[in-house]
Amino acid sequence: MITQIDHIGIAVKSHDAHVPFYRDVLGFEFLGFEKVAEQKVKVAMLKVGEVKIELLQPISEGSPIAKFIEKRGEGIHHIAYRTDGISGQISDLKKNGIQMIDEIPKIGAHETQIAFIHPKSSGRVLTELCQMKGAHNE
Ligand code: ZN
Repeated sequence: MITQIDHIGIAVKSHDAHVPFYRDVLGFEFLGFEKVAEQKVKVAMLKVGEVKIELLQPISEGSPIAKFIEKRGEGIHHIAYRTDGISGQISDLKKNGIQMIDEIPKIGAHETQIAFIHPKSSGRVLTELCQMKGAHNE
């Protein structure tokens, strides 16, 4: 079951140029930086209420985020919904004819399990499912 928006992912060329806006101007809580090797990105996490803002900075040219910025510029990259059972969620989506990018969950920031829905199936909004570390999985 999807329980809430977990975070909004925003592609940036440089954290230095954008972290101060969210942290110092808007006053969001800064949770820290983390490298996600699998995605070739460094992530800056900020929190407002129950929702996080994930600033994604590419750490190599082969990063999907580098390609995204090259094609479309900086900006909103994806919306992530939190689920309490990612594997069950994926099979329910597939039963409904939804096309997944990831049919098997992979590891995201903070040891979450994540899977992306193909934008073809979600109105061209790149949509991520994520399950918190330690949450139950069916
Ligand atoms: Zn994300």
